[in-house]
Amino acid sequence: MRIGFGYDVHRWVEGRELWLGGVQIPHSLGLLGHSDADVLIHAICDALLGAAGLQDIGYHFPDTDERFKGIDSKILLRETMRLVFAEGFEVENIDSTLCAERPKINPHIPEMKRVLSEIIGVENSRVGIKATTNEQMGFVGREEGIAAYAVVLLRNRQ
Ligand code: MG
Repeated sequence: MRIGFGYDVHRWVEGRELWLGGVQIPHSLGLLGHSDADVLIHAICDALLGAAGLQDIGYHFPDTDERFKGIDSKILLRETMRLVFAEGFEVENIDSTLCAERPKINPHIPEMKRVLSEIIGVENSRVGIKATTNEQMGFVGREEGIAAYAVVLLRNRQ
């Protein structure tokens, strides 16, 4: 068994789509980033890569590479799963938390779980997604940005 942890933040900006957990969410603001800035998928990718001993998302998908400009983070997750699988691992379970004051995340969680569990190749119940506000404290509370945390447990495949 291997445990991994991931953390990511992205800044709120006007004029961008909001993508979280592979799902587009209607909101007045989006997140700034080289890719689609899906902060939850990025935290999950980092947890997966960390558990597999494969460095981090910035190493595999650098934000200086034009190939990843505006890319759908689901593609990054799919590629991360390919790397994790090639190392001989499969996913036992994932748990994650999104921290944002707005918009309401909860109504979108079932769809995020459906989308992510399909890419990760596990049953729905093995991908935990939770959401909380930051009680108006810190950069999340001031609505400057959004944060995501993820942990993953991998097991040897065989
Ligand atoms: Mg990121």
